[in-house]
Amino acid sequence: MPKEIATQQNTIQPDPYLESVKAFHLEMPPYHNFDLSIGMTAEKIYKNLTNRDTIDAYCIWCDKEGVFRAYNYLSDNVSIPPWTTRHDGLIEVEYQCTRNNSHAYHTSYFKAGNFFTKVGQFPSVADFQIPQAQAYRKILDEEQYKEFTRGIGLAAHGIGIGSFVYLRRVFENLIEEARAKAQAENSKFPNGDYLKARMDEKIKMVKDYLPEFLVENRSLYAILSTGIHELTEDECLQYFETVKIGIEQILDEKIIQKEKADKTTKAREAIQKAHGQIANSK
Ligand SMILES: [Zn+2]
Repeated sequence: MPKEIATQQNTIQPDPYLESVKAFHLEMPPYHNFDLSIGMTAEKIYKNLTNRDTIDAYCIWCDKEGVFRAYNYLSDNVSIPPWTTRHDGLIEVEYQCTRNNSHAYHTSYFKAGNFFTKVGQFPSVADFQIPQAQAYRKILDEEQYKEFTRGIGLAAHGIGIGSFVYLRRVFENLIEEARAKAQAENSKFPNGDYLKARMDEKIKMVKDYLPEFLVENRSLYAILSTGIHELTEDECLQYFETVKIGIEQILDEKIIQKEKADKTTKAREAIQKAHGQIANSK
């Protein structure tokens, strides 16, 4: 495993799905499992299962961000003996949208001694995550959008390496788009050198046509490639959220650039029109 990935793994540990109530209940794929006897795992899971606070999350029925109220949770206020000695079997959790309580996310978990796993979610992780990707429709073409959501869907079903393949294609397409632009604007663009270059070099060659975040975080590509060739299914799933957020940052930046360009065009047209009207009336 390359050094840069190895050190990143240390900072990612422990499991990112344990770090927020929302990630634990709504983003963690089914059959993701834990050993409750390791480190702070039991404490963190207990905190997520017994959470009574609201969580901010996307509501797929309201079709926008919402606030969800804990409706069904693990009810346990005994501190001794520890909760891990009780609650074997199924544990069900429900969060309801504060706009409409029939908008509800259900998740279930199974515990046997120190073994703990998520066993179900309705609506599915993909149902929850894919509508949120719709914002990227405006800058991804049909094929790229399909690949992006397929990557999300696979990870949501616990398929790590496959999800990386799709995200890597989305990444490569962004670079290819930049190359096409660079070549169209500069007839002296060294296409031959570009084709022979490693991805890191390619990004540097077309950096003026790429979102800043991508250029700064081009190691994202190394993570994706290492994932496909060297990491295990579980390791890919562990990094999935990180690389997805990275790609979303790149796409967000492209949306902002596009909106700014559209606004500039509209403003220019409006000013010319107003100027014409004033000139004509004089
Ligand atoms: Zn709702």
